[in-house]
Amino acid sequence: MGRDEPAAMSLRTYRAKRDFRVTPEPDAARGTPPGRTPDGGRFVVHRHRARRLHYDLRLEMDGVLASWAVPRGPSLDPTARRLAVQVEDHPLGYFAFEGVIPAGQYGGGDVIVWDWGHWTPEPGQPDGRAAIEMGELKFRLDGDKLDGGFVLIRTDRWAKARPTRPKWLLIHRRDAAAVSAWDAESFPESVKTGRTNDEVAAGAKASRRGRPPKARRA
Ligand code: MN
Repeated sequence: MGRDEPAAMSLRTYRAKRDFRVTPEPDAARGTPPGRTPDGGRFVVHRHRARRLHYDLRLEMDGVLASWAVPRGPSLDPTARRLAVQVEDHPLGYFAFEGVIPAGQYGGGDVIVWDWGHWTPEPGQPDGRAAIEMGELKFRLDGDKLDGGFVLIRTDRWAKARPTRPKWLLIHRRDAAAVSAWDAESFPESVKTGRTNDEVAAGAKASRRGRPPKARRA
């Protein structure tokens, strides 16, 4: 995607995969504010129990959520190198989405807001899109669960084999926020509602109300 391409263009794949008469997910055509966020923005991680469990890491940039599917989830353990498959940009309206995507729909299953907060590129690093094009994004997360420095590195060998879903590695840096043997599965509750995926699937009421991170204006 070109750097000046409007956000609406990059959401074409998101729209094409979904039937908004059936899925409760937000329609990308609505409520996507324009604009760039060159110095980071909000991030969210969804725990998505689809055909296969995975975590979706989404970084707000250029008016959309750049997204990676992380099968084993992010970790604070700097020795954990997590596969992260880059997937289609999602609309900003997806940020706080939590619910059940009907069976038979794309991504059918249950989704919780597993973590959220803000991300910032490491000082001196290129900002979001430029870093993605170059295949290396060094950034910090300040979330309820995730904290400290991370790097996303594209694995070019795989990227060439399947350019629409390039594979990256997500690695926590060796810093003060690092925790050895840290496993995402040990923290199963939504930061938005306190619910687990099982409880969302069962239609349970929220046990807490997490406050969403504030959007920054570019
Ligand atoms: Mn997903």
